[in-house]
Amino acid sequence: MPTADKHQALDTVGVVDHVVIVGAGQAGGDLAASLRELSYAGRITMVGSEDSYPYSRHPLSKSYLLGGKPRSELLIRPEETYRRFDIEFERGVRVVAIDRDHKHVILDDGRDVGYDVLVLATGGLPRTYPDAALDHASNVFYLRVAEHADALRKHLVPGARLTVVGGGYIGLEVAAVARGLGVEVTLVEREERLLARVTSPVTSAFFAQVHDEEGVVVRTGSSVSSFEVGADRNVTGVVLDDGSTIQTDVCLIGIGLRPNTDLAQAAGLDVSDGVLVDSALRTSDVSIFAIGDVARYPCRDSGDTRRLESIPNCTEQARAVARTLTSVTEPYEAVPWFWSDQYDMKLQVVGLAAPSDVVVVRRDPDRKRSFAVFYLRYNEVCAAEIVSSPRDFAIAKKLVHQRVVVDPDKLADAAAPLRDLLPRAPSSSR
Ligand SMILES: Cc1cc2nc3c(=O)[nH]c(=O)nc-3n(C[C@H](O)[C@H](O)[C@H](O)COP(=O)(O)OP(=O)(O)OC[C@H]3O[C@@H](n4cnc5c(N)ncnc54)[C@H](O)[C@@H]3O)c2cc1C
Repeated sequence: MPTADKHQALDTVGVVDHVVIVGAGQAGGDLAASLRELSYAGRITMVGSEDSYPYSRHPLSKSYLLGGKPRSELLIRPEETYRRFDIEFERGVRVVAIDRDHKHVILDDGRDVGYDVLVLATGGLPRTYPDAALDHASNVFYLRVAEHADALRKHLVPGARLTVVGGGYIGLEVAAVARGLGVEVTLVEREERLLARVTSPVTSAFFAQVHDEEGVVVRTGSSVSSFEVGADRNVTGVVLDDGSTIQTDVCLIGIGLRPNTDLAQAAGLDVSDGVLVDSALRTSDVSIFAIGDVARYPCRDSGDTRRLESIPNCTEQARAVARTLTSVTEPYEAVPWFWSDQYDMKLQVVGLAAPSDVVVVRRDPDRKRSFAVFYLRYNEVCAAEIVSSPRDFAIAKKLVHQRVVVDPDKLADAAAPLRDLLPRAPSSSR
């Protein structure tokens, strides 16, 4: 907890008549709604630089990119909800500075907005590829906002050649959608395996095989060394470090996120690859919180600090801050979980694995594209990756939440029902 000892109790803020939220994405929108759901009666102002009500980003690399969803269906809540909840919403407006001494924020149209409590939900932007050759190319894309997906989608036509740089969730999901649209796909990943940062080698190997079966050319252990551009300044080739060139019509770069910490940093808050918060999600200023992709919080489980990029994390952190502002402060200790859709499969992940954990694989030979990986620490289940078995995922979540101690052989035996490993509820005696 790098900043914890600087924090005081929320009581020191005094009466919270006005909560200002910077950022109207998943986390900002969830906080505004959670405050009202918990009967917060003060003013709520949400300032968002995108000209949109809060919308879901997860379909941007899945159903929305495939073309099956209208833009309006991305909205997390109907517009009407914000009016009903009496949330003052400054749309298409950016906060350019925080004046902590006078407790107000300055908007890009010159207005000031005072706050009692400020919540930073500023998310992040795609990490960009540092190559000037890309500056003028109109066929190279990142994926964070709906406009990015709209623009990329126009290039995903049958027979087009797509190069995906980055074998994380977004790159793999886009590769799967592109194959569904008849696009030729090559995926380049610098690490020796896909999803190297987030899953076990077993799960990485499984997804590499599936993408290969689906016709994606997967090149792990390969770095991009440069881009070739044509007379129209568009990228025509991606040159790898082994000297080979991938001829390409369109590129998608998915190499991670840069958290939007500039505002916090300029205001003198503690920042280190994210805005540093304590276990109550408070920054180094007692009146300012941070939530969602931008917040780096102390993780009880791993003993270090984490910044998570997931919808459950946004929603649960928003609820935690709403509870703090309306009742009692509880430490934020939610168990992280995540999902990814690729082809006809759903990968669901719960908990945080450590390199020293024992890995147990549970595989039903009759179900080709479904299996589970569990991580055990002293035989306690501390994380799991489940492919295409929502029922097993529901049980895995309980095993991880309760840190159930299991017999690794029983866990690996796919013939024995997973639910049998859950502790029995005490029988009620009458
Ligand atoms: C393509 C894609 C697929 C994904 N798939 C999944 C998935 O399957 N499952 C899952 O759990 N998660 C998924 N995620 C991650 C998930 O969408 C994010 O974790 C979540 O949207 C982050 O929300 P946020 O509110 O923290 O940040 P953001 O969504 O980045 O929102 C922050 C908002 O703040 C605004 N802002 C920033 N600075 C300012 C300022 N100074 N003034 C005013 N406004 C400002 C930004 O414009 C933005 O609108 C996916 C993300 C992407 C991009």
